[in-house]
Order: sequence, then structure tokens, then C-alpha cells
Amino acid sequence: MKIPRLLAACSTALLLAACETVSTTAPGAVGVDRTQTMLVSEAEVEQGATQAYAEELGKAKQQGQLNADPAQTERVRTIAGRLIRQTPVFRPDAAKWDWNINVQKSDQINAYCMPGGKIMVYSALIDKLKLNDAELATVIGHEMAHALREHSREAASRMRAEQGLGALAQIAGVDAGVVGLAGTVTQLTFDLPHSRVQESEADRIGLELMARAGYDPHAALTLWQKMGQANQGGTPAFLSTHPSDSSRLATLQSLLPRVLPLYEAAPRN
Ligand SMILES: [Zn+2]
Repeated sequence: MKIPRLLAACSTALLLAACETVSTTAPGAVGVDRTQTMLVSEAEVEQGATQAYAEELGKAKQQGQLNADPAQTERVRTIAGRLIRQTPVFRPDAAKWDWNINVQKSDQINAYCMPGGKIMVYSALIDKLKLNDAELATVIGHEMAHALREHSREAASRMRAEQGLGALAQIAGVDAGVVGLAGTVTQLTFDLPHSRVQESEADRIGLELMARAGYDPHAALTLWQKMGQANQGGTPAFLSTHPSDSSRLATLQSLLPRVLPLYEAAPRN
């Protein structure tokens, strides 16, 4: 995180108009309350994500990899749907997002949710790790949390700040670079890891989403243990950006008392 540099950029008069400090989500029971500094608009990032996601869907479809197993797609959509119904706890507008949920047949262990709710789960994540529904809800909830917290918009803002005043025209919308933003979203989705702070936030919010949706939050621990074991046979794509270390497990364990009452009160369907 290079927030000081971003704040420094925001303090220049020219950039002030384009810069805002926001709280993208309510803290929830897990208490995520960090404020975020944004230089790029939500609409701009969503447009970029819509384009980037359409490109991924097109490529997968062309190769016969899109929703190749209808039963698996149905399973993923059911789990994601239950999680999505809980998102207004963190941000009411998420209920109106144009959520998309698809499965890509792939040997890679991976899953992502692009800005605005564009979810893709890779079949190997489910098949190779033999995930039960609650473990799958852990991964999908975690990825959804990155989108709810607008972590990609934050990262894109940081990239813009580092580009400096040369990018000012774009930031001001003079030449709103939707094409450029689509490339940035793709890069952020596949190549660049989220910061540790963002990862921790996604773990916390994802844990609350799954508990409220009626999935046993203990499954978050077995999921990350399975991820850690998969890592020993070569690094899967997801693991390269999501290390399954002891501090991650310890944090999740420590949060269980906050979310277990929500799980116990949740509907089972
Ligand atoms: Zn993550």
C-alpha cells in the first residue's frame, strides 16, 4: 500500500476535485471500518469490469469452457445467490448490482469477482479441492467482499496516482479511458495481488456473508487448509495471490465467536 503517496497526490489542487475519501461498506459484525481514498470513479471501474468480464466470457465460450457442466453451474449459482442476498448488510446498493455468476472449465484452481459483481469460478477449484458447499461459499464470499469493498478501484486509484499528473486528463474524465480501465481490471484480476490489508478485509466480510447465508463458518478454516495442501503440489493461481498462512487461519479462528451467532440464527436453505 502506498497510501501516503496517494494522499500526497490528492493534496495537489488540480487533483482535489477528482479525489474522494469514502467508506464503501458498513462495518458489519466483523468490524471492517477503514476509510478509502479514491481517484477513479466507481462508474468508470464498473464499465472497465463489464468489458473485461465480457472478454473473459467470450474466450471461455469460444473454447467450450463456459458453464460446461450445468449441474456444477447450478450449484455455484445457488451458493452465490444465497451470499448475494446478504450483501445489503454491508452496502444496500449491492442488491441492485447486475450480478453475473459463471463457471469456467479449467485445470487452474482459481476464482474471482470483478467490480460490480462479475463472478467466475474455475471448475478445478471445486473438483481438485473437493469442496463442500460451505467451503465453496468461503471462496465466493471472499471474492465478493473484494468487490463490495471496491478493492480494485482502490488499486486503480493508486496506479493513477503513481502515473502522476500526466494522467490528469483521464482522471478528470476529459478522455475517460474505459478501454484502459478494462485492461487495468484484467491486470488487477489476474496478475496483481491485493494488499494484505485488503485480503484481511475480504476474509472478514466473506466470513460474515457465509454465516448470515447459513453456511457454517468453520468451513473457512478447512478451505484454507485445503488450499495450503494444494500449494504443496505446485502453486495454483489462486494461492499465488492468496497465501494460506498461519496468521490467516488464526484471524479467521478469532472471528468465529462474532459470526457463529449469525450462522445459528440464519435460515437453512
Ligand atoms: Zn483475496
